[in-house]
Amino acid sequence: MALTYDVFVNDPPPRDGGPLPNGEPKGGSPVASTLIYGSRDAVLTDPAFTTDQARALGDWVAATGRNVTDIFITHGHGDHWFAAGLLAERFGARVVATSGTIAKMHANLAARPVLWDKAYPGIPPSPVTAVTVPDNRFTLEGHDLAIVEVGHADTDDNSVLHVPDLELVVAGDVIYNGAHLYLGESVMVGGFQPWRDAIDKVEALKPRHVVAGHQNRQLDDDAGRTIAETRQYLDDADELLRTEKTALGFFNAAIERYPNHLARTVLWASARALYGVREHPEEDVRQILVSAWR
Ligand SMILES: [Zn+2]
Repeated sequence: MALTYDVFVNDPPPRDGGPLPNGEPKGGSPVASTLIYGSRDAVLTDPAFTTDQARALGDWVAATGRNVTDIFITHGHGDHWFAAGLLAERFGARVVATSGTIAKMHANLAARPVLWDKAYPGIPPSPVTAVTVPDNRFTLEGHDLAIVEVGHADTDDNSVLHVPDLELVVAGDVIYNGAHLYLGESVMVGGFQPWRDAIDKVEALKPRHVVAGHQNRQLDDDAGRTIAETRQYLDDADELLRTEKTALGFFNAAIERYPNHLARTVLWASARALYGVREHPEEDVRQILVSAWR
């Protein structure tokens, strides 16, 4: 039987930490989970990170009546997988990731006390249980699913899930769709070129549909549009880094350019990281990245 896919977008959980510079309360970014399914079985991706999100997502998955065999994690950022254990337990599923992502999962787990738990209450225990699969391939009712490693995007060791029979790429945080990109970790790799290279690798798979890990649920999954818009955002960020003198200037100019984009908290964290490193080259970069989220 042919495969189908559907997307569930969890709104960001409430968080602590005061308002943004424009007075809005801080938030986060919506996280998209994709369910790829056949007549009986299903594969779920990036199951978000709080207990409440896991319940909402799990109920949506359960309503499809499919048996979840695998939960695939695209990259190590905790907002995409801290709830994986709850979903794996609920559905009796295996958690799958690349070895590079698994290493980053351990690093994000270690950063919970100073980063994630400081901002977001309600994250469940999140032991890393993910395993690799031979040749980065697994199957769903006989259909091939290929994990493609694309390197650095919004963090190191991103991967995407290619489903050739659906002309679908589940792109994690390589492609965004109507939400501000998290740019902070570009300071670790000298700018946005590695991310642009990762986008090229997604495009080379010739998808028709791209599911972005962070998205406005009212937008479609058109591959051409989402790829072009992600590239344009990086170009715009480079331009604003040249023209804006301060993090606040970058924040305000990006909102002016993207008035409808979600996740301004992510934009502010990006701006603080990029300008923090520029203004304090003597300071520890990792410390600046963590502080940028406060
Ligand atoms: Zn993310």
